[in-house]
Amino acid sequence: MRRIAVLTSGGDAPGMNAAIRAVVRSGIDNGLEVFGVRNGYAGLIAGDWKALSRRDVGGIMQCGGTTLGSARCLEFKTDKGRQKAIRQLRQAGVNALVVIGGNGSQTGSHALHQLGFPVMGLASTIDNDLFGSDISIGVDTAMNVALESIDRLRNTASSHHRAFLVEVMGRECGYLALMAAIAGGAEAVVLPNSETDPDQLAAELINSYERGKSHAMVIVAEGSHYNAARLMQHFQKHHERLGFQLRVTILGHVQRGGNPSAFDRILATELGATAVQALMLNQPGHLVGRLGHEIALTPLEDVVSNTKQLDPKLLDLAQLMAK
Ligand code: ADP
Repeated sequence: MRRIAVLTSGGDAPGMNAAIRAVVRSGIDNGLEVFGVRNGYAGLIAGDWKALSRRDVGGIMQCGGTTLGSARCLEFKTDKGRQKAIRQLRQAGVNALVVIGGNGSQTGSHALHQLGFPVMGLASTIDNDLFGSDISIGVDTAMNVALESIDRLRNTASSHHRAFLVEVMGRECGYLALMAAIAGGAEAVVLPNSETDPDQLAAELINSYERGKSHAMVIVAEGSHYNAARLMQHFQKHHERLGFQLRVTILGHVQRGGNPSAFDRILATELGATAVQALMLNQPGHLVGRLGHEIALTPLEDVVSNTKQLDPKLLDLAQLMAK
């Protein structure tokens, strides 16, 4: 092995830069040349890359986003696009690729692996929906950003005896919403795949006032059928019957920004270094993630064919604490 490439793909996540830095510096330490690919799979197809030195990746670890750029690339979803990417890599003498990204990106890396190109995935997504990693790069920072907003809203909610609804990101998974509900002390949480009756939700909020609470906070996962927009519509339509209105905040992309937390920087550094080690040991075709307290390799095949489930005990905990 002489030359590897690294790219970031899909939704950006705080900590991606620390992962790029770790791959570059570990690679160089192992005698490899490391190419940084711009804009994810689009850059791979275009052959848009350059060799990175140790100094090139200095001063990026503390920045959010990704200095390599990311993109959503439809062409890579086609066999023709992937064949073109492999041709570009082979022509440039690249022997292996490290893909830093979430579920979609690792489906792409698995497809490259199936075509016989050596690839390693790095678990990076604020949604935390990747099978093969209990926690992915970016989750901790996104959670803390969400929590800061929730804490602020709670202050004003308490002062004015109001009900607030906060929608957080996380696609169909709901991990961020559930953990934000626990850490933010929410009165209710609405998750994808959970059955939500808006009237029952309103009854729970009224009940929490009756139990002496000065405010009510509902956390909603963006992937829920009853997302913020639908709940707001329902509550507006029925507000006289329900007796109150909800104030709605959609956190959206704010959660992606910000400097990565210490946890995300360390996780990204460990995962990046392990990916290079695994390539040196000729173990491509894996996702590098964290399971329990260990850094672990999971075959990409398993990553793409399994869906990560939320731990039902955590939902019980959120509901218990809301009483
Ligand atoms: P994330 O990695 O954050 O989940 P996306 O789902 O947008 O983000 O995926 C990022 C990119 O990965 C897509 O733009 C596409 O280039 C590639 N990708 C996604 N799904 C597939 C697939 N089924 N086959 C090949 N490539 C894919």
